Amino acid sequence: MEFNVFEYFKDYKRITKGPMTPEEQGTSLFLAGNMGERIREFADVHAEKNRLSRRRFFQTASGLAACMLAVNKITGMQFFDVTEAAAAEPAAAKEIMITRKPGADFIVDAHTHICWRKDGYIPGVNTTERGMWFVNLLDDLGKSMGLPNGTKDMTVENFGKLILEESDTSVAIFNPFGFREDYGGKDMIPIEEQAEVKRRWPDRTVMLGGGLTPNQGLEETLDRLQMFVENYKISGLKLYTFDSTPARGWWFDDQKKAYPIWEKCQKLGVKNIGCHKGIPFGQFMARYAHAEDLDAAADDFRDLNFIAYHSAWPYHEELAALGKKGFKPHRDNLYCEIGSTFAATVTNRPLECAHVLGTLLRGLGEDHVMWGTDSCLWGNPQWQIEAFRKFQIPDQLVEGYGYPKLTPEIKAKVFGLNAARIWNLKAA
Ligand SMILES: [Zn+2]
Repeated sequence: MEFNVFEYFKDYKRITKGPMTPEEQGTSLFLAGNMGERIREFADVHAEKNRLSRRRFFQTASGLAACMLAVNKITGMQFFDVTEAAAAEPAAAKEIMITRKPGADFIVDAHTHICWRKDGYIPGVNTTERGMWFVNLLDDLGKSMGLPNGTKDMTVENFGKLILEESDTSVAIFNPFGFREDYGGKDMIPIEEQAEVKRRWPDRTVMLGGGLTPNQGLEETLDRLQMFVENYKISGLKLYTFDSTPARGWWFDDQKKAYPIWEKCQKLGVKNIGCHKGIPFGQFMARYAHAEDLDAAADDFRDLNFIAYHSAWPYHEELAALGKKGFKPHRDNLYCEIGSTFAATVTNRPLECAHVLGTLLRGLGEDHVMWGTDSCLWGNPQWQIEAFRKFQIPDQLVEGYGYPKLTPEIKAKVFGLNAARIWNLKAA
């Protein structure tokens, strides 16, 4: 993850007020975004009707629905399939409601994290200044999402509680953090810690290996890959093309540095290769956040799947152009995942959100876009699930840009069926 919530949501306060409901997490982002003030005015009317304080109203399912309804009214476009009744329904607002519908959809969250290790992150001891910067960004995000102790609460325990127990997520695919140069020569989240998640919830989690960068030495990288497969039975990779070596980054289509890794993946049967793309925040240099290197890699390794995490936003158009329905009709192995990208845009810039989803679906095709939330850095993912259930690409954009409509069939593919296909999961 990889997102400075305070830069993006200008009205966000650096406060810790303990656990919030998933609805409040969602509403607080709507309120901190550029339409916040007008959403607040609109929602106040509904809070009053429900005889609730504003704060309490925003903790309810009705509060979240009121935010969505307000966005429709303010923009004059139908972004959310939500009725006046949902925002006004007193029964819904009476209790702090978690709008869970477990089992209603098969939901695979392709992008989840823990952010914790036993020896912690101690500046100057096992963490560089740059490493601390990243920890602090995640720490802030967690605190603003109801994790009182930030990264210290992004534990194995909370991963299970927030994602697997308290949201409608069926299966969570967890992503590693490496960046060893910044964390005392040890992965930011060592694979031993991650393996604990897999051990606890073997049927509901999928474990990816990571922290591989050929700039640390190709032999060492290949050895670690083999160790991940042999000792930890990883189901794929999630890599970063940024690193803190003097080279600062690398490309997936580098025939010397990267191709030996993909060849080894072929040999070891590791098929799904993810990469952080887009969101070029902090130490992540923008040039390595572009998706252009997936072009040649996808053609030269057609039995591997390449997954652009974050959908390369804000460079998603470049990614979509490389898809099966874009300029590469022969290509069936290029995927994207919408973690953080959806959460950030849906609440603050719904028109951009519709364009991003529309562009991805139109270019990569509806079989190649996958759900992800970047939780538990964003706390409990339930509000994101709720927002996607209700989200629409407005008719004007469907007509004017040739985007597909977000039908229940397409949502089911994005929510879980596409991920189920490439990770061989049983869609319950
Ligand atoms: Zn992430």
